[in-house]
Amino acid sequence: MSRADRVAEALAERGLDLLLVTNLVNLRYLTGFTGSNGMAVVGRDVRRFITDFRYVEQAAAQVEGFDREQGPQDFVSALGDGWPDGELRVGFEDQHVSVRTHGRLRDVIPDRISLEPAGGIVEALRAVKEPDEVERIAAAAALADEVYGMLREQGLVGRHEREVAFALETEMRRRGAEPSFASIVASSERGALPHAEPADVPIERGTLVTLDIGARLDGYCSDCTRTWATGELPGDLAEAYALVLRAQEAALAAVRPGPRGHEVDAVAREIIEAAGQGEHFGHGLGHGVGMEVHEAPRLARTGDAQLVAGNVVTVEPGVYLPGRGGVRIEDLVVVTEDGHRVLSGTTKQLMTVE
Ligand code: ZN
Ligand code: ZN
Repeated sequence: MSRADRVAEALAERGLDLLLVTNLVNLRYLTGFTGSNGMAVVGRDVRRFITDFRYVEQAAAQVEGFDREQGPQDFVSALGDGWPDGELRVGFEDQHVSVRTHGRLRDVIPDRISLEPAGGIVEALRAVKEPDEVERIAAAAALADEVYGMLREQGLVGRHEREVAFALETEMRRRGAEPSFASIVASSERGALPHAEPADVPIERGTLVTLDIGARLDGYCSDCTRTWATGELPGDLAEAYALVLRAQEAALAAVRPGPRGHEVDAVAREIIEAAGQGEHFGHGLGHGVGMEVHEAPRLARTGDAQLVAGNVVTVEPGVYLPGRGGVRIEDLVVVTEDGHRVLSGTTKQLMTVE
């Protein structure tokens, strides 16, 4: 069954006839189209793909199994006709469509067609990866591991955080990928900010450096955090590292089909709370990764979805000590029928990189 067929099935369950796909990531997932302007209409017997003049040839090469159209300059007005007969319920991706575009759609689309909020249908399919998608994510993760290997050889002490971030991203591009998000290099007290921006300050000896990088390769992302020491650590930072590692390994061991996101989150959270550091772990345990670096399912206190084979998630507890420093350890992992497979290959044992 094709991805579009599975969308049609999900629509039927919701009492919808068609889905208007306007989000470009969802569009790529369903049609293979990588251009920057296009939309699709999907239903049981409808496979309509519309792009503009610039992408007609690209679409001919990439998009199979859809009726391809070239839309007019006023792109949305392509939806003024071409619909099946009768009264129809058409879902649109309400989490992506602006109020203005919704107004335009309502003006253009015939009155016999109702527009229903239906966000998340394609995202729910995307959360369960096909084997080929898992291998692409694994390749992006392996590339990030190689970039970490390069940094290990180059060293950290005395270099500016911003320069290290630039070197990491340059190496990703040199290897044919691009960063899937802005790299984090956070040393000393800046490590206590979970999403610190790399600063124009030198990395000191005898502290922790949090490194969080991801590659996007062939349309799929990776995400991996490591925290390295730059020499002998003060006791509180060494303890924080040991605690986060213990929590990370315990939560990772709980990743398999069955538990809900919040249950896996709780495994790490209880260990960190028992050590008296609960207030210093203020974010969720992890998130899905795929064509986007943050997608379903969520491993967090609010994560209700049960893990299923094919989910790809991060497991990334952290402890952030204001004014002192921080630790986060993040693995990328795919849920398999009988457990999980870790895709991140860089060691989690405390490493000293001077
Ligand atoms: Zn990350
Ligand atoms: Zn992450």
